[in-house]
Amino acid sequence: MKYCRFQLNGQAHYGLVESVAGTEQITRLLLSPPEDVGGDIEDLASKRMDHIVLAEAKLLAPVRPSKIVCVGRNYREHAAELGNEVPQEPLIFLKPPSSLLGAGEKICRPKISRRVDYEGELGVVIGRPCHKLAPGEDVRKYILGYTCVNDVTARDLQNKDGQWTRAKGFDTFCPVGPLVSDEIDPWSGTGVETRVNGELRQQGNTRDFIFPLDVAIRHISEVMTLYPGDLIATGTPQGVAPLAAGDVVEVTVEGVVTLRNPVVDE
Ligand code: MG
Repeated sequence: MKYCRFQLNGQAHYGLVESVAGTEQITRLLLSPPEDVGGDIEDLASKRMDHIVLAEAKLLAPVRPSKIVCVGRNYREHAAELGNEVPQEPLIFLKPPSSLLGAGEKICRPKISRRVDYEGELGVVIGRPCHKLAPGEDVRKYILGYTCVNDVTARDLQNKDGQWTRAKGFDTFCPVGPLVSDEIDPWSGTGVETRVNGELRQQGNTRDFIFPLDVAIRHISEVMTLYPGDLIATGTPQGVAPLAAGDVVEVTVEGVVTLRNPVVDE
């Protein structure tokens, strides 16, 4: 199943995204996933309300995370293209929730940076509280679903600062969505692609992760409690490059609707 968050009459709602009589529709929900239910998107099906045509809804970022945890250098070719060694254990960092951006909203290149890159990534949405997972424990039951993330990065500031808070943390630097789906299986291989103005720039597959999802999530859970709605960005494939004002950048996770955002200058 797939869900989204959308705006109607000035208010935010959650809805299931379903095909009804050949038209993609949103079925508005009484509850907010994952904060109110956790667990499985299927659990929401009994909380249906009215239908709204998907094309007529203003979609919002589908998550409201307490934190956004990112895995850096999780593909060999991407580590190499930036002149970095492959990490020996998952390399994690945070983006602030204030960096979140919905589909269709504008990525703003700050004046202070001369190089703002896209990083298309698989996003994981947590469904249940998760802390110090035991070795061998199945992480899937803690995952609500998957989405598209663009880990937008001020590359020059990342190199200059030596740590990444500023480079990764500007407002608008975390486009996410537009849907969350539980219909894919990253362990068996999910394609992740990025296009700029329609041109293919990144083409990766989750089966090439240096640290598979269970290793990465277990590692994160050793450090911090993950809460329902928290977002994990799982690393970007090779092919990162700068964005310019006027560009339109698209991140596609195979089986999830494409995340599309225009780029503007501050
Ligand atoms: Mg990244």
